[in-house]
Amino acid sequence: MIALKKPEILILGAGYGGLMTAVNLQKKLGVDEAHITIINKHDYHYQSTWLHEGAAGTIHQDQIRIPIKDVITQHKVKFLKDTVIEIRPNEKQVILENNKLTYDYLVIGLGFEPETFGIKGLKEHALFIRSINSVRFIREHIEYCFAAYNNESEKRDELLTIVVGGAGFTGIELLGELANRIPELCREFDIDRRKVRLICVEAAPTALPGFNPALVEYAMNQLERKGIEFKIGTAIKECTETSIIVAKDENVEEIKAATVIWAAGVRGNSIVEKSGFEAMRGRVKVNSDLRAPGYDHVFIIGDCALVINEEIDRPYPPTAQIAIQMAETCADNLVALVRGKDNLKEFVPDIKGTVCSLGHDDAMGVVFGEKQLYGAQASIMKKVIDNRYLWKLGGLSLVLKKGKLNFF
Ligand SMILES: Cc1cc2nc3c(=O)[nH]c(=O)nc-3n(C[C@H](O)[C@H](O)[C@H](O)COP(=O)(O)OP(=O)(O)OC[C@H]3O[C@@H](n4cnc5c(N)ncnc54)[C@H](O)[C@@H]3O)c2cc1C
Repeated sequence: MIALKKPEILILGAGYGGLMTAVNLQKKLGVDEAHITIINKHDYHYQSTWLHEGAAGTIHQDQIRIPIKDVITQHKVKFLKDTVIEIRPNEKQVILENNKLTYDYLVIGLGFEPETFGIKGLKEHALFIRSINSVRFIREHIEYCFAAYNNESEKRDELLTIVVGGAGFTGIELLGELANRIPELCREFDIDRRKVRLICVEAAPTALPGFNPALVEYAMNQLERKGIEFKIGTAIKECTETSIIVAKDENVEEIKAATVIWAAGVRGNSIVEKSGFEAMRGRVKVNSDLRAPGYDHVFIIGDCALVINEEIDRPYPPTAQIAIQMAETCADNLVALVRGKDNLKEFVPDIKGTVCSLGHDDAMGVVFGEKQLYGAQASIMKKVIDNRYLWKLGGLSLVLKKGKLNFF
């Protein structure tokens, strides 16, 4: 009897989407059914949803990252540390920095990149929350500025001015962490708290667009109470090495700042469009079974995929929640294809709610449909959501190792 060749499944990216696809596949497929390889540029998975905490320095980056080999079953899934350079879907090939691989089925889960909308100087001078390396740099940069302040003969106030671009979900979560961290830094570096400015600039007419106005008001009040200055309806026009230039109506202002963190926009990984997939800001409008239009052997999930919410005729915002749910559907569909079936599942998002943290001890959000939560209750819920993901990924031992177990 001739042994049939096992199909090669390549998973690109070990983020929420990619890693959860691998974990689901290792549970659902037998060793002799497929070769599964997951490729990632680092040998760890990081939780993007905690990156703002690493940037502010309220948690250490090692709590945010998890070695990939700790969660995959290595005789079922092979891990390859490499960087994807290009995908050639017509040749079923992936070009890596150090290798060239072919596949029968491909899963693209390469995540997000910052989107700067062409604003002058942002790419060159602003800092971005995008990876462990970038947030470690932000934390060190802020500490350096605080240390430098008392070491220079001329006290430059801009060293103590931090600007956050964007009052969306990521910007607000980052401000919550910074608001808690600044008093600690002031104590550590002998700085008067009143000297420190923490400014949020948002071009839209409100913070947290899309959130219920009562929740927005709560978040802004809580953050203003901790000394954050909001400039809403104000656009960043330019970022220089030492300042930002903002404009509201006709009024243009230059704010001197040594730290500018851009948290106002993300797009899908640019490798996707460079590889010839039709994409809008790096996001491909996938078929209902999560395959790329015209490429039946390619699944695209997470922040590189675009799915329309038919109720409002707009795309679902890219979230970890959706990436994890996509991973389940994608794994089920891969199992079906490997077993020669063609009844693929449709991806139907099940939005369980959104909780936005305002530091480790405060939060607000909506859960179970319409229930609004504020303060400690919301903060506990946020930690339960975070721990639930760890549970799905690596069970109790991972929750105990990396989870947020301090609920107050
Ligand atoms: C600060 C912050 C807070 C957030 N909070 C929430 C929240 O509370 N709830 C929520 O649901 N969502 C939240 N999000 C959004 C969420 O993090 C993303 O939607 C989610 O990470 C997308 O998952 P993904 O699998 O598509 O990609 P990612 O998790 O970004 O993973 C992509 C992976 O691909 C790897 N990679 C990238 N390029 C290459 C390459 N060329 N070669 C090899 N590997 C590569 C990366 O290293 C990474 O491991 C937040 C995002 C941020 C930044």
